[in-house]
Amino acid sequence: MGVRQVRRLHRGWQTLPNLHRHGISFLALVLVVVLLWPTEDKALEAAIYLPPELSHLDALNGSLNRTPFTEDRLRERLRGEGMYGDIPSHGDYDIVTYEIGSGDSLSGIFDRLDLGQTAMYQILSADESLLALDVLRAGHRLKFYKDPDSGRLERMDLYVHAGYQVSYERFDDHNFEYTETLVEGDWPQRVIGGEINGSFYVSARNAGLNDREVAEITRLMEDSIDFRREIRAGDTFDVIRAEQMINGRATGRTRIEAIRIHGHSPRSAFLFDDGNYYDQEGESLQRAFMRYPSNTRYRVSSSFNPQRRHPVTGRVAPHNGTDFAMNTGTPVLTTGDGVVTRVENHPFAGKYVEIQHGTRFTTRYMHLDRILVRHGQTVSRGDRIGLSGATGRVTGPHLHFELHVNGRPVDPMRAEIPMAESVPSDQREAFERRVEELLVVVEDSNVQYAANR
Ligand SMILES: [Zn+2]
Repeated sequence: MGVRQVRRLHRGWQTLPNLHRHGISFLALVLVVVLLWPTEDKALEAAIYLPPELSHLDALNGSLNRTPFTEDRLRERLRGEGMYGDIPSHGDYDIVTYEIGSGDSLSGIFDRLDLGQTAMYQILSADESLLALDVLRAGHRLKFYKDPDSGRLERMDLYVHAGYQVSYERFDDHNFEYTETLVEGDWPQRVIGGEINGSFYVSARNAGLNDREVAEITRLMEDSIDFRREIRAGDTFDVIRAEQMINGRATGRTRIEAIRIHGHSPRSAFLFDDGNYYDQEGESLQRAFMRYPSNTRYRVSSSFNPQRRHPVTGRVAPHNGTDFAMNTGTPVLTTGDGVVTRVENHPFAGKYVEIQHGTRFTTRYMHLDRILVRHGQTVSRGDRIGLSGATGRVTGPHLHFELHVNGRPVDPMRAEIPMAESVPSDQREAFERRVEELLVVVEDSNVQYAANR
């Protein structure tokens, strides 16, 4: 385009009426804005990943402005995330995502979002056999699906991390039911080593192990080694730690697969396929569990039954534990060594205690009349943790007892529990192969034992 044509164009532009010139300028501006505007995907992502630094109400209003998201768009977006891969397709919802902040309570969130306390109790009722909503932590996300016409809550998703999510879905006017999604993902191993300087605890923490892991190592080894007398400055250790990864992201779950202490009193521990730890000779390092959470055996009034049907609704309402017919005030005992991870009062489960035994086993004791332990307390097998009772939704006094292995409830009366024995002779070869594999992992790692200060 020559200079002359440009001049002519410019003259032509000036001869246009003012109204037309402004109109054209405005349309050009709109075109630029549209081209530069963030895509839908970005807007959706912003709504899902609420920046933690924002106040929750602001963040919520931000996401409300962009709602409603259609199911199809949401499903497409989340499939990439490995989140909620199986959202059922029935119509569109108004969806609100809420990231839990410290100090948030479920009831406070339901109030703020105007979801109704009735719906909350219906969901808590469905959660009685799971109790996933009793430990909401900052960073967990809730997603609410409301009927756009009635505003009624139809579904709520709890997203703990990429490996664990729960959906509560309405199936009639009064009831919700849950679907739990546990993803195993990958567990890449890492070897962590160090030299002991000062206490084992401090040296292991400096090497990169967390509090929970050091506590577990100490508990596993304390029967075979005296950490105060038998470990000296200059001794070294190495640990194989596996960490759960899902879609390339760490979930925060870890497990210890091998421990070796070298020096004056060498010791080792290896995690075998049966979930128990053994020393190199195949002798168990775990303290045994008791089968019954009481001094004497009480009658089982209701057994573990994942397929139990609700007497009224006829839907599957799993019974994730064993009920013992116990009078109120009967001492309840922890079945294994561990740490008290929950002391709660639930509208349906009543007063209950949860104890974590290492990384694989967890027990729960519900409907207690009194709780005799505090959160974070260390307990030994057979310690009194409470008195049985009839708190929560019960027809009479009893103890509801649960055993979970790797996050899943199992039949406490039948599950294989650590009995503090050696590797069974028919498993001996497999165990020796496992030890070889783990030792190769350590040797290939070029772990450094230089003191970590
Ligand atoms: Zn029960």
